[in-house]
Amino acid sequence: MASPIGHVVVGIGVAGAVAGGLGTDSTPALWTGAAVASCLPDLDLLPSLWGVPYRRVHRRATHSLLILAPLVGVAWAAVSALDLSMDWRLMLAWTSALMSHLVLDILCTGPGLRQGGHGIPLFWPLASRRWCVSRPMFPEVNFLEGVPAGVIGRACLRELLHLSPAAGVLILLGHLL
Ligand SMILES: [Zn+2]
Repeated sequence: MASPIGHVVVGIGVAGAVAGGLGTDSTPALWTGAAVASCLPDLDLLPSLWGVPYRRVHRRATHSLLILAPLVGVAWAAVSALDLSMDWRLMLAWTSALMSHLVLDILCTGPGLRQGGHGIPLFWPLASRRWCVSRPMFPEVNFLEGVPAGVIGRACLRELLHLSPAAGVLILLGHLL
């Protein structure tokens, strides 16, 4: 299970690559928007703050391409209809960061988490399959199950150390190609 740190690092890397490839300036809006967008699907955990068991709400509609893609389309249409002067390249970079969330979640979810019902429902509601990989990128840690703080800290550090160089390479490639 990827942490918010991992999602932000990858989201920034992907958005930076897309922005670089499209010739968009590196602005605070690019990086901040990418960081926020990369974590949006996990807002489905908010009901847990009011006592709803996370298993009932997490990794459902907000982790489905069939839900996210139309929502992104609506957001783009709203920006266009309201005649907001948004740079479409910036919006594409943010959209890429948003979609990177699903990819990283899948790459960090193995059979163990999937068995616990934490696979990613990419094509919900049309298909009930929950996606994962046979060998996740990192040892599987379910941050939502009362894991000791030390284990969480080590897992976050591991993500930071492994994903930051990859994000840096992505950004560099985006600017070079
Ligand atoms: Zn997620």
